[in-house]
Amino acid sequence: AKELGRGRFAFFDPQINERNQRAMRIKAALPRALEQREFSLVYQPRLKPSGEITGYEALMRWHSSELGTVSPAEFIPLAETTDALEQMTAWLLQQVVDDLNDPRLASKQIGINLSPRQFQSGNWAETLRSTIEAHNIKPEQLCIEVTENALVEDFATTADQLAAVQALGVEVAIDDFGTGYSSLEYLKRLPIDYLKIDRSFVRDIETDADDRVIVETIIILAHSLGLQVVAEGVETRAQASFLEARGCDELQGYLFSAPRPLSELGEQQVKI
Ligand code: C2E
Ligand code: CA
Ligand code: CA
Ligand code: CA
Repeated sequence: AKELGRGRFAFFDPQINERNQRAMRIKAALPRALEQREFSLVYQPRLKPSGEITGYEALMRWHSSELGTVSPAEFIPLAETTDALEQMTAWLLQQVVDDLNDPRLASKQIGINLSPRQFQSGNWAETLRSTIEAHNIKPEQLCIEVTENALVEDFATTADQLAAVQALGVEVAIDDFGTGYSSLEYLKRLPIDYLKIDRSFVRDIETDADDRVIVETIIILAHSLGLQVVAEGVETRAQASFLEARGCDELQGYLFSAPRPLSELGEQQVKI
């Protein structure tokens, strides 16, 4: 314990301290990262069991001059607590619509991740509407991915926004499905097109009977509600065959491709 002043003590954990310092450095570096164009996008394909690529998920990358490569799993949660995330998402949306001019992305759908909190504050339907109009893109070429937690935090606002987004013709996916606490009632009442099964359930399909049952049940549930199912984090052929046999509509994962920059995207078809 470290003495802070007369009679005041705080337990000093060097690990926690290190983490806090890194978090502070990341938060401080984010606004400059935008100015200095340190962000880039990578795209990971989503495909049907036939091998046809139906779309790509856009994922942010950050190569910081100061901090090196920082994972979105680390910087997105921190960006959420600052104003930077709004601007980062605006940048991302602009980049995506520019990239949609590339012949490789023509007639593909691009999935864009929005953080729950962001979904409650911003007016995404309006942002998307003006972007779609200005760039003359088909609304169904965009898909918004939002986690279940957005529903739990503020169901009414989220539901309104999702409905407005869907009314434009933009599709909606619930991301990391199965890890949050949304009720089935929510699912029934929400305007959704896709459920994305979280990769934590896909990972152990081969060894864990519980996970197999969960995955099967999610697929049946989704289909009975008229939703399509995408499995994320597919890494092995055995996982892919299990998912295909259970009627999973689309697959995404390292088995087919890691996320890659636009310039490195390959064939429109993947051998599976
Ligand atoms: P997510 O939305 O669940 O994205 C999928 C993550 O799984 C990506 O990690 C992807 O690279 C990784 N992945 C894909 N296939 C496999 C696989 O077969 N095995 C394994 N182990 N991992 C796989 P990434 O790119 O590091 O992104 C992490 C998270 O950061 C994303 O999770 C998403 O929540 C967030 N994120 C990334 N870009 C953005 C963004 O532009 N906006 C927001 N709000 N969040 C973002
Ligand atoms: Ca996602
Ligand atoms: Ca996900
Ligand atoms: Ca995830």
